[in-house]
Amino acid sequence: MAASIIDGKAIAARVRAEVADEVKAFGERYGRAPGLATVLVGEDPASAIYVGGKQRACLEVGMGPFDRRLPAEATFAEVAEELERLNADRAVSGVLLQLPVPAHLDGPTLTAMISPDKDVDGLTPVNAGLLSLGRPGLRPCTPSGVMEMLAQAGVQLEGAEAVVVGRSNLFGKPMAQLLLAQNATVTVCHSRTRDLPAVCARADVLIAAVGRPRLVTREFVKPGAVVIDVGMNRLTPEQAHNKSGLVGDVDFEAVSQIASAITPVPGGVGPMTIAYLLVNTLNAARSQAGVR
Ligand code: NAP
Repeated sequence: MAASIIDGKAIAARVRAEVADEVKAFGERYGRAPGLATVLVGEDPASAIYVGGKQRACLEVGMGPFDRRLPAEATFAEVAEELERLNADRAVSGVLLQLPVPAHLDGPTLTAMISPDKDVDGLTPVNAGLLSLGRPGLRPCTPSGVMEMLAQAGVQLEGAEAVVVGRSNLFGKPMAQLLLAQNATVTVCHSRTRDLPAVCARADVLIAAVGRPRLVTREFVKPGAVVIDVGMNRLTPEQAHNKSGLVGDVDFEAVSQIASAITPVPGGVGPMTIAYLLVNTLNAARSQAGVR
């Protein structure tokens, strides 16, 4: 039986429409819109595209975009000063530093300088700690988006075996925490995991965030499992055989034959990330305004 498709594009569109309504209500109440500041250091083309997408998404829901660009040779002190300025600016509700930063800069230390109440990527030590303690805080966008997709697909997490492949601070670790908070039994795999296919095949919910094209094949998947593909891998034109060059970490063709539900790439997890950046910015603006 073919798996049902969890349509991230459609779910993200609904989330964005809800945010747009809430932004309007916020503006009527406080006389200003929530604002999202993006900080891009250097001219990495992929990062510039991501930042452009975030700025456009902001405008579409009526938020104020603050687009800050620094040259590739900017010093640590210059980037830190920009972050401090944005932390202090009352018109700015959320601040994100686009990663990776150029090699001479220390990305994690700079990220940690973002005020925790404006940390819309949820990557500061304070927000990572709050998540780990199960206390309210700003959560990383991609795992939050995945939780919403699982909820929309009606996936029962309580008592389920969830396996997350990948242990990055950006995705794998916060994903595991969010699943644990919903009472799933969580296993986190990585490059040193022994017999990865066998561990993955235990999963009722299998989430891949590795960065290896089509690593997860049919033998990794228990029949009827829900499979979430976070990977975004760009193939060369020869590898892609003239099709879209973007593929996930899951062999979609094979796995969709035995999973009960699956996310496609593109059109799956990707759109949810920006949608949750907007949700986080709205929530940051509300909590700064004292709304509970
Ligand atoms: P990352 O920091 O490079 O982490 C990759 C993880 O995969 C690491 O924990 C690594 O293990 C593990 N790994 C690597 N090779 C493996 C293998 N052969 N078997 C098992 N585990 C392996 O990457 P990331 O930032 O988490 O991103 C992962 C993927 O998700 C990328 O394709 C990225 O583009 C995508 N992504 C997409 C979105 C979105 O919006 N859709 C957002 C974030 C990330 P070790 O820790 O042992 O090295």
